[in-house]
Amino acid sequence: MKDKKIGKLIIISGPSGAGKGTICAELLRHMPDLVISRSVTTRAPRPNERKDRSYFFVSTETFLEMVKNNELLEYDQHFENYYGTPKKFVVDMLSFGKDVILEIDVKGALQVKQNYPDSLLFFIEAPSEQALYERLVQRGSETPDKIQIRMARNKLELAQRSKYDYCIMNDSVDRAVKEIIDILKEKRQ
Ligand code: 5GP
Repeated sequence: MKDKKIGKLIIISGPSGAGKGTICAELLRHMPDLVISRSVTTRAPRPNERKDRSYFFVSTETFLEMVKNNELLEYDQHFENYYGTPKKFVVDMLSFGKDVILEIDVKGALQVKQNYPDSLLFFIEAPSEQALYERLVQRGSETPDKIQIRMARNKLELAQRSKYDYCIMNDSVDRAVKEIIDILKEKRQ
């Protein structure tokens, strides 16, 4: 009998403003058999986010209860807020043979890699610090103070990129997405 196929974790990570969200959306468009995990966060929703359904927005109390009940695959505190990956959805999808995308920060990514060594870690890099800064400003969701905090954290995250399986330069979304798709297809052969 053939072995049951277990899915792989595809971790899209890297600095805030590097374009991870756009890359994930394009990956799903090109590879509809992939599924994406939806994180929980204590951060307040941005004006367009409820429609996007990008996160489960919860109170700090609920989040800490989830941590206590071991309901998260990984979690991190980031810019005064908590972010985490609900475990059940991911574990179920992997057992159904689905490859699952996680769009998470660097600390979370390295935690997952420790527990799931065959996950594929992609570090998404913006072409320059200036480009990152401009993307955060253009997004319009952060105050200048918060942008400075994100930029400082980005430097720390950039220093971890050698721990990743692949570094993808997001100088063009189409090119970056193609590079990731080529790697995923090769891994599936
Ligand atoms: P934002 O507030 O811009 O939506 O996200 C801030 C950072 O938190 C981003 O780098 C994002 O990738 C990361 N993040 C989102 N969800 C999770 C998660 O479930 N776990 C971890 N560790 N980081 C996350």
